[in-house]
Amino acid sequence: MNAEVLIAGAGPAGLTAAIVLAQRGRQVMIVDAQAKGANTFRAAVVHSRTLEVLEPYGVADRLAAHGIHTPVFTIRDRDKVLVPVPFDGLPTAYPYTLMISQADTEACLLARLEELGGKVIRPARVSGIEQDADGVTAALDDGQRIRAAYLIGADGLNSTVRQSAGIGFTGGTYAESFVLADVRLPSPAGRAGSRAGRAAHRAGRRRLRSPRAAQPGPRAGRPHPRRPQPPGLAAVRPEQKASRVNARLIRRDAS
Ligand SMILES: Cc1cc2nc3c(=O)[nH]c(=O)nc-3n(C[C@H](O)[C@H](O)[C@H](O)COP(=O)(O)OP(=O)(O)OC[C@H]3O[C@@H](n4cnc5c(N)ncnc54)[C@H](O)[C@@H]3O)c2cc1C
Repeated sequence: MNAEVLIAGAGPAGLTAAIVLAQRGRQVMIVDAQAKGANTFRAAVVHSRTLEVLEPYGVADRLAAHGIHTPVFTIRDRDKVLVPVPFDGLPTAYPYTLMISQADTEACLLARLEELGGKVIRPARVSGIEQDADGVTAALDDGQRIRAAYLIGADGLNSTVRQSAGIGFTGGTYAESFVLADVRLPSPAGRAGSRAGRAAHRAGRRRLRSPRAAQPGPRAGRPHPRRPQPPGLAAVRPEQKASRVNARLIRRDAS
């Protein structure tokens, strides 16, 4: 047996599982297909309940120290507040939502795992699994085989482990496509408004999310009548002084 527990995938789910098990004295091996962790914002909000759950594992304070505490989250259209969402009345030690890049979240989790003596083996992609009465054998795409009593599939949306185990993926898919961009740019929008807005402005960061033209499908939306040009795209025009642009196109075609 190479490991008591093998974890496929070192995103937030896999790293958290590894920390919990390592802290409880279990022998864990965690592998990830990518040579390096991703460096984009992706899930940029950590809620107070998540911090409460992570508190016993030595991660909550670390995350709270790295993120922007946002007692009132606001959704805006340029400098106009559309929806204020208050978190400051929650009965918790963390009465805010925490704005933090997923890359930073993963770095905090990895630091804690390393304190516990763990490390992520990269690049190592699980390409197949065989299960028997005593455990599981995972095949890596470089030909190695890892034997473990348990395998945790934390390998994301298109999980090889889930598919190999014959576990279905229920749920729906939105017909619309969105452009999501992590950008740094000079913007007047954060000068007024929430503390988080001002802090984000000082840090020069904005998260822009805008609908793209609807894809064909049963729930296809219509373009915004007053917004022919998605503002996310407008925000990353080359003539603007964005010092860092990390834009991704998320396309969810209707099935
Ligand atoms: C552009 C973008 C924006 C997003 N924005 C938000 C947001 O605003 N809010 C929000 O809540 N969520 C957001 N998400 C979703 C969020 O990132 C995911 O919910 C989260 O990453 C899921 O964590 P996870 O650990 O389950 O999987 P992942 O983070 O996907 O990690 C899976 C890991 O498994 C590895 N892997 C994959 N296959 C294998 C294999 N066969 N063997 C070994 N390793 C493997 C991958 O390399 C990866 O590191 C966004 C995602 C993207 C892509």
